[in-house]
Amino acid sequence: MPDVATPDFYNIESLLSEDERHVRDSVRRFVDKHVLPIASDCFEQARFPAELVPKMAELGLFGSTLTGYGCAGLNNVAYGLIMQEIERGDSGLRSFTSVQSGLVMYPIFRYGSDEQKERWLPELAKGKAIGCFGLSEPHGGSDPGAMFTTARKQGEDWVLNGSKTWITNGSIADVAVVWARTEDGVRGFLVEKGNPGYETLDIGRKFSLRTSVTSSLHFDNCRIPAENELPLARSLSAPLSCLTQARYGIAWGVIGAAMACYSEALDVAHHRTLFRELLIEKQAIQVRLADMLRRITTAQLLVLQLGRLKDAGEMHHAQVSLAKWNNVRMALDIARDARDMIGADGITLEHGPIRRMLDLETVVTYEGTQSIHQLIVGREITGAEAF
Ligand SMILES: Cc1cc2nc3c(=O)[nH]c(=O)nc-3n(C[C@H](O)[C@H](O)[C@H](O)COP(=O)(O)OP(=O)(O)OC[C@H]3O[C@@H](n4cnc5c(N)ncnc54)[C@H](O)[C@@H]3O)c2cc1C
Repeated sequence: MPDVATPDFYNIESLLSEDERHVRDSVRRFVDKHVLPIASDCFEQARFPAELVPKMAELGLFGSTLTGYGCAGLNNVAYGLIMQEIERGDSGLRSFTSVQSGLVMYPIFRYGSDEQKERWLPELAKGKAIGCFGLSEPHGGSDPGAMFTTARKQGEDWVLNGSKTWITNGSIADVAVVWARTEDGVRGFLVEKGNPGYETLDIGRKFSLRTSVTSSLHFDNCRIPAENELPLARSLSAPLSCLTQARYGIAWGVIGAAMACYSEALDVAHHRTLFRELLIEKQAIQVRLADMLRRITTAQLLVLQLGRLKDAGEMHHAQVSLAKWNNVRMALDIARDARDMIGADGITLEHGPIRRMLDLETVVTYEGTQSIHQLIVGREITGAEAF
């Protein structure tokens, strides 16, 4: 019988190195002890659990694949396992970690100057500074190339105008990585909290990702010094490369959410008697549980190979698209089915699946909707762009 809480039907454990297992187990303990006990309350209260940030930093969870600057220098499989375990606790907290690592520390590391790296990476790794990534705009996030936010050179400074929306960590970020159109194409800029002309506004009434702060960013003649431009980011391919990092982490993370839903549905089915039999004795329930396990196992194998390709420097962004699409769809379907198997009780926060399901409605949309990822894979197959 497979382990109920963290299913591993194909002994994928045996494919992990000792270091990878060690990282996973330490994050697993952290999530069991500190995240799961508060996740539902935080969701209900729409509260970001900021008190967990120092503990996560202590575990080396921010920018964990980067080397130097106080970062852990882990491989990409270990990073994926971190994402899986955090999202087994909460998708909002995983989103926070993805943004901090893949969308803020990664672009500073890859595209930033030495001064920018020295200034921000150690603080971000320690969780003493928080970052956000501003790419999406109100006219439509799926088409970032149609960007309206502009940056114009005035003397030695850059002047930003425009708006970004649906930005994770927006109002709590000390530094925003902002993408804007210049006369020479898209460029990235570091905008600091409190910079005149820069304001944030939180987006309320969310029924998804309630433990994560989401904001809009507004730039009104926002003047920033020339040294805040990311010198090596020369086109739209720079923010897109950051999205590849974050999407990779999402493909792993959602397995954690699916595992949690599966294990709860299985637990309830073990204890609920209907029509004089336990639910687990019903064929239709077994088929549904077996289908969940099939899909979780497929997703686990898919990301493990993706991680091995990434570590070998051979991963293609269309492979990440297929994994993000497949795994998020898998997790969302399992969350909905688990919610149904728990019956009416399943609509309350006494159980996890309704929270997971609502959160995954964001995860299926952000970092490229399902349609966008299908079109990326379609373009890879056919050579024809159909966006
Ligand atoms: C909670 C949350 C946090 C987020 N965090 C961030 C963040 O930190 N930084 C950031 O920059 N963005 C962030 N986003 C924005 C996110 O990336 C966008 O929501 C996403 O890219 C989709 O954009 P959109 O919502 O404008 O939908 P649209 O782009 O308007 O899409 C609407 C619909 O049209 C479909 N569609 C689009 N183009 C095509 C096409 N060519 N063919 C067929 N169908 C198509 C889409 O699949 C979708 O169903 C976040 C979003 C949410 C909800």
